[in-house]
Amino acid sequence: MSYILQLIYLVASVTFILGLKFLGNPATARKGNLIAAFGMGIAIFGTIFLFTIKDKAGNDTGVHLHNLEFIFGALLIGSILGWISAKKVQMTAMPEMVSLFNGMGGACAMLISIIEFQHLTEDPSLVFSSLPVGHLLTIIIGMIIGSISFAGSMVAWGKLSGNVKDKSFGKQQFINVGLMFVILVMGYMVVFSGSENAILLFYGVLVLSLIYGVLFVMPIGGADMPVVISLLNSFTGVAAACGGFLYDNKVMLVGGILVGSAGTLLTIVMCKAMNRSLLNVLIGNFGGGAKGEATGSSTFEGSIKEVSASDAAILMRYAKKVIIVPGYGLAVAQAQHVVHDLELLLESEGVEVKYAIHPVAGRMPGHMNVLLAESNVSYDKLVEMEEINPEFNTTDVVLVVGANDVVNPAAKTDPNSPIFGMPILDVENAANVIVNKRSMKAGYAGIENELFYKPKTSMLFGDAKKALTELVSEIKALG
Ligand code: NDP
Repeated sequence: MSYILQLIYLVASVTFILGLKFLGNPATARKGNLIAAFGMGIAIFGTIFLFTIKDKAGNDTGVHLHNLEFIFGALLIGSILGWISAKKVQMTAMPEMVSLFNGMGGACAMLISIIEFQHLTEDPSLVFSSLPVGHLLTIIIGMIIGSISFAGSMVAWGKLSGNVKDKSFGKQQFINVGLMFVILVMGYMVVFSGSENAILLFYGVLVLSLIYGVLFVMPIGGADMPVVISLLNSFTGVAAACGGFLYDNKVMLVGGILVGSAGTLLTIVMCKAMNRSLLNVLIGNFGGGAKGEATGSSTFEGSIKEVSASDAAILMRYAKKVIIVPGYGLAVAQAQHVVHDLELLLESEGVEVKYAIHPVAGRMPGHMNVLLAESNVSYDKLVEMEEINPEFNTTDVVLVVGANDVVNPAAKTDPNSPIFGMPILDVENAANVIVNKRSMKAGYAGIENELFYKPKTSMLFGDAKKALTELVSEIKALG
């Protein structure tokens, strides 16, 4: 049977790679998810029914997995909980859920290492110096990374759900580096000392790694959590790959490596799109709401000009070309369906409508694409920043819906701004800019936006869903 299982693992590994490839495009992302889930399904059931246990010498015993009632019980409970939470989750709470699920992955890797260490050391006649070094090394690496990922993800989840506040104390970075050093030295001793203290040391490493996970994430600015979650995601991948080594399980190894590398790449891409280094994210204490209190009493020249829904409707109804810039506020207001209604309505009146998608608009990678796909906005209407920027100067009206930082000119003009250097959408090149948000409060970066004070800009205040619904009825009323 073993070769059938190997074949299943091969097919599953291919589906993971195909899944990732398809996930790269909104049009194929759903298919990619299903393909990879199918691969994971056959890998799980193949293992349950075809895997045979090896003895300590590595010989096949021909015995299949037992405890099937526990395995299926856990599968059932996990599937039901996963299904319900995925169905219920709000789009804005997605990073929170990813963090929680990622923490579970880290916990699995941690538990695998603990169980395998117990298997290795349970024999009363054990001679510690004869323990296989490679095996021990994989166990300890998997445990350290898995527990950091688990504890860190739990803190990230707490921060995103607002239950845990950013907290750092003096010299925290030095303490973290010192703690990591202690963990590595103790881990080295577990693997190479051959002493009976290895068992005690092993559990010491476990506790310290969990503490490190908490201290590592605690001081990071609350709003930087999506980047940190992506980083922790890559940690979980590496920890899972260690499990693949331990069990000589190719599909676990491939899956872990893919998660590890995809998480690392995503972290780099996110940092690049925000024009920040990973170090700045980790120690910068950037964003996080506390600073988001800009009030409107600003140092900028010009003044705030308000526009009513009926005037905005006239401007848009008689425009040739309108570009909609969605941002985090669109997600908060769940205004994706009404924005699509607005787009269809304008198009029925002969107006050309496109969406300008900034790579870090919202609070997670691909946030706007996923949100707009939910309301069936056609993918070819979603235009990436580099492609749409040259189009703004031939655009009559730009409607900014709940976006702020991604259209803030300070990124280009103010070297002291925390977002200086971040590429932005050049909306001010359009003939008219209508900005919809609820107040003059700042966005994620906690800074004021000069765009709101420019002569071409008018503010349409109000919750995005409500304001756009009003806009739609005003346009309809124009006939
Ligand atoms: P911002 O966070 O800059 O601004 C969002 C704006 O939406 C706020 O100013 C808020 O103003 C407004 N808003 C909130 N709720 C509503 C509502 N119900 N109706 C209307 N408006 C609302 O969002 P952007 O999308 O412009 O920028 C994303 C930011 O997040 C960037 O700084 C990016 O670096 C960062 N980031 C993005 C990540 C990603 O992967 N996408 C990851 C990590 C960070 P008001 O309160 O006045 O309504």
